[in-house]
Formats: sequence, structure tokens, C-alpha cells
Amino acid sequence: KESQAMKFLRQHMDSDGSSSSPTYCNLMMQHRNMTQGWCKPVNTFVHEPVEDVQAVCFQKKISCKDGQSICYQSNARMNITDCRLTGNSKYPNCTYRTSQKERHIIVACEGNPYVPVHFDASV
Ligand code: C5P
Repeated sequence: KESQAMKFLRQHMDSDGSSSSPTYCNLMMQHRNMTQGWCKPVNTFVHEPVEDVQAVCFQKKISCKDGQSICYQSNARMNITDCRLTGNSKYPNCTYRTSQKERHIIVACEGNPYVPVHFDASV
């Protein structure tokens, strides 16, 4: 079974990629299995080395969007792609708006080793 840590890597890591094309999200959301059964509405891909993203678990401690869990915000801005489902997109045709950004990422971490298991937001 896929662990929470593996799921984070599948859903959010694309170290060697970049959203150079406007179809990046349409392709990646499909390739990473986030358009099966429904169209996942918002998803972020991070284009940085996996070690740099895992290191965020030891950076700035803040509260998550839910107001109760502990999250961590990256010290540095990271190269990310923000994928958002378009308003007129209808399952199974999931169409996304691709936006390239440089932002601080906010993640939640769990386990031993303590690694990212949830992508909370980018700021
Ligand atoms: O904000 P919300 O809790 O609805 O987010 C649901 C999921 O969407 C998150 O668990 C995360 O996988 C994804 N998300 C993301 N990037 C964001 C916001 C949400 O990948 N900026």
C-alpha cells in the first residue's frame, strides 16, 4: 500500500520538471493519478530537490490552515506549479490552469523519518 510519504511524493514532487508549458497541469494531474474518480481541484507541484522539500519539516513551525495541526513553512521561496481546475471542466475531462510561482511552501510532516505527508499551502 502507498504510504502517506509516498503519496506526498506522487502528488507534489516534480524535482526535474518545470511548468514550461500551459498543458503541464493537464498532463501531470493525469500522470500522477489525481483525475481518477474525480478531478482533484487544487494541487501544487514542487520543482526542487526532494531533500530540500524534506528539510522543510525542520524549518519554520506554524499552524496549518485547519488551525490545529502543526505545519512548517519553508525558509526559502521554492519554484512551484500551482494547478487549479477550471470552472467549466467536467469529469472525466479535467482541465487545469497552470501557474508557475516562486513561493514559500507549507507542509505537514509525520513519521520516523519525519517527512512531508501533506501540502497545506504556498505563500
Ligand atoms: O485546502 P484544502 O484542504 O482543500 O486542500 C486539499 C488538498 O489540496 C491538500 O491536501 C493538498 O493536497 C492540495 N493543495 C495543494 N496546494 C495548495 C492547496 C491545496 O496541493 N495550495
